[in-house]
Amino acid sequence: MIDTHCHLGQPDYNIDRDRIIKKCKHHLNAVVTCCANPENFDVTMQLVRENQGFIFACASLHPRYVKEVNDRNLEEYLEAIRLQKKSLVAIGETGLDYNWITDPKEQEKQKQLFLRLIALAEQLQLPLVVHSRKATEDVINVLEEQKARAVQMHMFTNRSLLNRVIENGWLISVNTLLLRSKTVKKVVRDCPLEQIMLETDSPWLGIGEDGNIKPKNVVRNNPTAIRLVAEKIAEIKKLDLEAVDYQTTHNATEFFNINL
Ligand SMILES: [Zn+2]
Repeated sequence: MIDTHCHLGQPDYNIDRDRIIKKCKHHLNAVVTCCANPENFDVTMQLVRENQGFIFACASLHPRYVKEVNDRNLEEYLEAIRLQKKSLVAIGETGLDYNWITDPKEQEKQKQLFLRLIALAEQLQLPLVVHSRKATEDVINVLEEQKARAVQMHMFTNRSLLNRVIENGWLISVNTLLLRSKTVKKVVRDCPLEQIMLETDSPWLGIGEDGNIKPKNVVRNNPTAIRLVAEKIAEIKKLDLEAVDYQTTHNATEFFNINL
């Protein structure tokens, strides 16, 4: 099993990151950690260096942080990403987030950054990891206009737009939201297993003892939770857990061009 989207560079893991990684190595085949802002870049690259063949990384500026990074810092960060191309398996997460960013001017800034990162992924020949929140139709329109080919729609929750994702040959990734959302269950039911990957978005989306998703400072999630997601997919699709494990792992190694 591969957690294709988590954030192990987040400060939430500073106290026991080594212990968590050890646990991941015991239960998982690999982890793709996502660096979502410049502050996490060095620690993310260090994780890749120290865990060759197990931790892989993607990097970008998350759309919700567009306001927080000035132009000069952004240019420096994008240059650092270019220089580390060989240590990265994707560009992302990038995309549009109208939940956190509501000002139309800032939304336009998000779109310009999204376009730049799509171009960067194309230039570096890397796949794209895409975030969308309250903006999925716009995100899909942009990706189609730019003729993006290798796309992971991370935390995809939109049943009505699923067919466009499937027809474009993109993949979705599913996390613990599946355990409580009827809509995500329908998305999984109707998406071919060949286009599904597992993720956690750790440290976010941890499940509390009451079965509900909690803020990360209350229940910190970790990548081994993908097992719960795989079990739920197996139940929905009436398949063995092994079949879900095999196919989603295969999807991830192909998508990210990972050698295990
Ligand atoms: Zn994320």
